[in-house]
Amino acid sequence: MKKEDCIFCKIISGDIPSNTIYENSEFKVIMDIAPASKGHVLIIPKEHYANIYDIDVETAGRLFQLATVVARALKKALNCDGMNILQNNGLIAGQTVFHFHMHLIPRYEGDTVTVKWEEHSMEAADMEQLRKEICDAL
Ligand code: AMP
Ligand code: ZN
Repeated sequence: MKKEDCIFCKIISGDIPSNTIYENSEFKVIMDIAPASKGHVLIIPKEHYANIYDIDVETAGRLFQLATVVARALKKALNCDGMNILQNNGLIAGQTVFHFHMHLIPRYEGDTVTVKWEEHSMEAADMEQLRKEICDAL
């Protein structure tokens, strides 16, 4: 996708309005337009990175530092019972906006948010083979 067609680039440039919580030279923190729960926010780098494979590790590190601060502010403001931090990459993973962003989703007793998967068992030998393949790729 071209940057000109990117909705988050348009939010960063101010062409599309957003409910901004915080911004600095690198990041903008906005309210999600269709929140999963009360206080669902997005942290968006101002540079256009498509996904986790595209963003540089230094920027990603600073983004997570900011996420830590914002999560604590959400907890203080909303007194939520928990917090999910989610970052989708690729259509299959649920990414709909192809400009890197991190979701902070406050959780409340009895809310309707689901972030749960089916658990699978794995043979020890298969686990070991997989572990080696991933280690080799690091
Ligand atoms: P993802 O599915 O991880 O790509 O998340 C995209 C998120 O962006 C969704 O939670 C949308 O509700 C949110 N979103 C889309 N457009 C806007 C917008 N104009 N302002 C704020 N949030 C938006
Ligand atoms: Zn963009």
